[in-house]
Amino acid sequence: MAKRDYYEILEVNQNASDTEIKKAYRKLALKCHPDKNPGDSEAEERFKELSEAYAVLSDGQKRALYDQYGHAGVDQQSGGFSSGGFGGAPFEDLFGDIFGDIFGGGGGGSRRGGGRRGDDLRYNLTINFEEAAFGLETKIQVPRHQPCETCDGSGAKPGTSAETCRTCSGNGQVRFQQGFFSLTRTCPDCNGEGKKISDPCKDCRGTGLTRGQKTLSLKIPPGVESGIRLKMNGEGEPGAKGGPAGDLYVVITVKDHPIFQREGNDLICEIPISFPQAALGCELEAPTLEGKVKLKVPAGTQSGKIFKLAGKGIPVLQGYGRGDELVIVRVETPTSLTSRQKELLSEFAKEAGEDIHPMGKSFFDKVKELFD
Ligand SMILES: [Zn+2]
Ligand SMILES: [Zn+2]
Repeated sequence: MAKRDYYEILEVNQNASDTEIKKAYRKLALKCHPDKNPGDSEAEERFKELSEAYAVLSDGQKRALYDQYGHAGVDQQSGGFSSGGFGGAPFEDLFGDIFGDIFGGGGGGSRRGGGRRGDDLRYNLTINFEEAAFGLETKIQVPRHQPCETCDGSGAKPGTSAETCRTCSGNGQVRFQQGFFSLTRTCPDCNGEGKKISDPCKDCRGTGLTRGQKTLSLKIPPGVESGIRLKMNGEGEPGAKGGPAGDLYVVITVKDHPIFQREGNDLICEIPISFPQAALGCELEAPTLEGKVKLKVPAGTQSGKIFKLAGKGIPVLQGYGRGDELVIVRVETPTSLTSRQKELLSEFAKEAGEDIHPMGKSFFDKVKELFD
């Protein structure tokens, strides 16, 4: 099940202050508190969700982890990392095309009188299984806007400059009267910019921005999983009018591995063996992420038996140590036998009787007790 974004749950944006978060939590928690909604299981669920979101976002350290790694970053802290099972992708629903989606920060508008903050961007990065296990340093090319080179970001045709807006005298805001009150609102003529461009730059059509690409170095820590977000502060869209840039979120997708599966920090590998190998015992070459190791399969090994290769799993994200590799042996039944092979097996079956099969014998003994 995909978990909802904590900021979304609390209905605040990602730059909300501690006080704003506290306020939002109080308001919403009051609304759906179980005491106020007896017997309403939906309200109860919502209340739980709120409490969880607040527990993380009100704790500076946890909030930083959440901002950087998403739910996986904080779930691991509380020990719930493996509960989602293999490949748990809490952010799967967030995946889209590059630029296809923009995180919430953009709606912030102008803040503290400064320019508008740039939009946050998301970049989807697919890496392979080994890269996720051991980390990776790579470069990504992020399509985003940059200040227009022709007009130096001003938006005005070179040689001209923006003029002060006459409607608001450059304030960006206009006063108007409503009843007894004198109110202000954003100037409709210049959209609050305080300036107007009469002769816009042709290359950026007066916006001061052009579409470009920025190459960024990215360090992915060992142990990441699909759905984890890495936040790069200030690498989103540039702000307008000197406002701060947005942030870039790199959302990781990890490719499946042909022979390994991941379960939390443990690695699972199923190895098929033949019936004679299982019965007589054998030595296998078990694959690990760092090459092959010898694995002794004792005589009389049953199908499904698990052998643990301690410390051969995935490194713990932002922590110490590694998970284990669990090798599961599967005894394979031979197919398309030659007549000689069939003859030998029939002979073997006659010779073997039922006493040499411990599970089968006890099972049929129980059947006998039931029906005879
Ligand atoms: Zn321009
Ligand atoms: Zn104006």
